[in-house]
Amino acid sequence: MRAHNFCAGPAALPVAVLERAQTELLNWEGAGASVMELSHRSPEFVGIAERAEAALRRLMNISDDYAVLFQQGGASQQFASVPLNLSSPGDVVDQVVTGQWSKKALAEGRRLTQVNVASSSESSNFSTIEPEANWSRTNNAAYLHYCPNETIGGLEFSFVPESNSPLVADMSSTILSRPVDVSQFGVIYAGAQKNIGPAGLCIVIVEKELLGRARADIPAMLNWQTAADNDSMYNTPPTFGIYLSGLVFEWIESLGGLDAMYERNKRKADTLYGLIDASDFYANPVDPQYRSLMNVPFTLADDALDKLFLSRAEEAQLLNLKGHRSVGGMRASIYNAVEQSSVDALCEFMHRFEKENG
Ligand SMILES: *Cc1c(COP(=O)(O)O)cnc(C)c1O
Repeated sequence: MRAHNFCAGPAALPVAVLERAQTELLNWEGAGASVMELSHRSPEFVGIAERAEAALRRLMNISDDYAVLFQQGGASQQFASVPLNLSSPGDVVDQVVTGQWSKKALAEGRRLTQVNVASSSESSNFSTIEPEANWSRTNNAAYLHYCPNETIGGLEFSFVPESNSPLVADMSSTILSRPVDVSQFGVIYAGAQKNIGPAGLCIVIVEKELLGRARADIPAMLNWQTAADNDSMYNTPPTFGIYLSGLVFEWIESLGGLDAMYERNKRKADTLYGLIDASDFYANPVDPQYRSLMNVPFTLADDALDKLFLSRAEEAQLLNLKGHRSVGGMRASIYNAVEQSSVDALCEFMHRFEKENG
């Protein structure tokens, strides 16, 4: 039996996708080999990659003005790739800091370019977002970087910032959870292991107009232009990850696309936040208007009960509910592949635990 998996990443994958991969694992569509054993230059694999890209373009309605790149190195590598591709010596970039991930992006940005922190939520312990009108922006910034959903703090933007400079978004934990208007962004990037596929792949969606701005000394592997010119095959790409992500994209399409995902996700989040809000035993520290759809952190009234909660949860086949080591407490990540039935099982368990220990 498969357990209910609330892992923040690498996260749960759709059972239908895993089953499909299982049936074609040894012999992919008569090729006589698994996807992992095909040359990345073979017509079979090139077709797999093209199909994956086409499905993502349909899902997110990505126009031909944008390149879709399959990169490695995770979202963390993009923290460096962004300044190296988009800023030149003398430029200033704006960064918004709303949690641990945008803070890491800030540290990397500072090593490689000149950064203005346009807004920081640190004084609220990353529990809210400063109104945009109060941000201090740079005129002619090379770009504005932000993280629409902070995976650790469970803080999610309810708006897309206005920007005269290209908007760069780390969407690792929110991509495909709801519809977005790609045309509002210069760059969207996302590590695959939250809401797309297995770890080892990072998707970069970049406006073609922004290619060619990289500084001369950028490593070839970090240069988006190099990736775009080579259809993401400058070197050997993460072939199995691309294949599996393609299956996930088609799975989302089969369920009705991103509008349908949003409905499913909203229902799951409402169920869980509803329980937390109705209880004096559980609490969520985030400003309600900025609560994450995907990552739900919560605390128990008495943190001496944390250990017991986690061990009982595990006995009930509810896995990976421990909060990030930097914030403690609990966190349930309820990405696309986490079914309503898993959230219902979690809520039932939380009710019972409160009754017995509250
Ligand atoms: C997980 C995560 C990262 C780091 O991703 P890696 O692929 O491990 O580098 C960065 N940003 C956000 C928002 C994340 O959720």
